[in-house]
Amino acid sequence: MSNKIKNLFYSKQSISNEDIEKVVETLNSTFLTQGPMVPEFEKKFADYSGAKYGVATNSATSALHVACMALDLGKGDWLWTSPNSFVASANCGIYCGANVDFVDIDPKTYNISVNALEEKLKKAETEGRLPKIVIPVHYAGQSSEMEKIFALSIKYGFKIIEDASHAAGAEYKEKKVGCCEYSHIAVFSFHPIKIITTIEGGMALTNDENLAERLKRHKSHGITSDNRFMEPRKNDEIWNYQQITLGYNYRMTDVQAALGISQLNRIDSFVSSRRNIAKFYDESLSSTGYILPFQNGNTKSSYHLYPIRVNIEKCKKKQKDIYDYLEEANIFANLHYIPIYRQPFFEKLGFKEGYCPESEAFHRETISIPVYPDLKREDQERVISVLTEALI
Ligand SMILES: *Cc1c(COP(=O)(O)O)cnc(C)c1O
Repeated sequence: MSNKIKNLFYSKQSISNEDIEKVVETLNSTFLTQGPMVPEFEKKFADYSGAKYGVATNSATSALHVACMALDLGKGDWLWTSPNSFVASANCGIYCGANVDFVDIDPKTYNISVNALEEKLKKAETEGRLPKIVIPVHYAGQSSEMEKIFALSIKYGFKIIEDASHAAGAEYKEKKVGCCEYSHIAVFSFHPIKIITTIEGGMALTNDENLAERLKRHKSHGITSDNRFMEPRKNDEIWNYQQITLGYNYRMTDVQAALGISQLNRIDSFVSSRRNIAKFYDESLSSTGYILPFQNGNTKSSYHLYPIRVNIEKCKKKQKDIYDYLEEANIFANLHYIPIYRQPFFEKLGFKEGYCPESEAFHRETISIPVYPDLKREDQERVISVLTEALI
């Protein structure tokens, strides 16, 4: 080994020999796509999360798009989400021709603020522009306050898509995120940095059979081979499928699903490693002046991210100083997130700086430090000591 200091990243996949064997086995099988692996993965992930139906896609982005389509989002409709997310949480609304708007975050949990949501709904009601869909994002793997958001959805008549891209294996009120008790659809990402990976990939979960059928159809060209949905045609013609709406090719391959099935065997150990690292950071960094991630009592985070906030009032150092100091020590932290509406694309739609002050303050003060299953204790200790030195 050279004496070069190891590079640490904020997140990283964990691939085992079993994963590799399962992928190779599928590569040597008859079906590389549209075979048995995708339905098996859908069933296993839905069972694990406590939902009735799973529809696998080639990314969470496409799962969010078909989820919006399944809920009939279209021109003139409004979709609201949290600005503290990846751009995909908002782009899905734009894909459908809808208007997108943002609700500021809770300064403690960094998830969509239920109070801000309620205030905005009251105002939107008087203006006749209530949202059709609200997408709470479970930031860093901690569930949003779904029971309260669900109560608001009943009162104001919107549908809920959970963006659970960070939250596979997380819990809310003793149940797995994804069980859809307080939502219509929950979407997960299997990008390599997320909790489990299919390289690229995603899944939409739901308990509604009709929504499941629509999700499935929209992700594959708008095609169905289910007689219940097909139009009658002449008896002497073969109609083994029909395209009945416009859809896309957003399918996951069987090779990816095979990797997903194998990864799912280790999801609990992945999540518990992440929780152990978070606990170690909580203990080791508690007296340093950083603001550590707050956990709501009824949630159990999957710790996709471990965001630390530089306490501007207490510290002489700024976020950028800490970020650069880490980088000099080969620790490549990251930023989650630039408020979506501050991206040039969204500014062109009319959003201005200052729109969601809590999200903007969060963006200026926070960095995500390394957390992933294969991060060794000695690496965690290095992160802690560099972070501690960085404040001096
Ligand atoms: C990663 C992520 C997505 C997009 O996931 P892909 O699978 O890369 O399309 C969407 N929303 C959030 C919150 C994410 O973190």
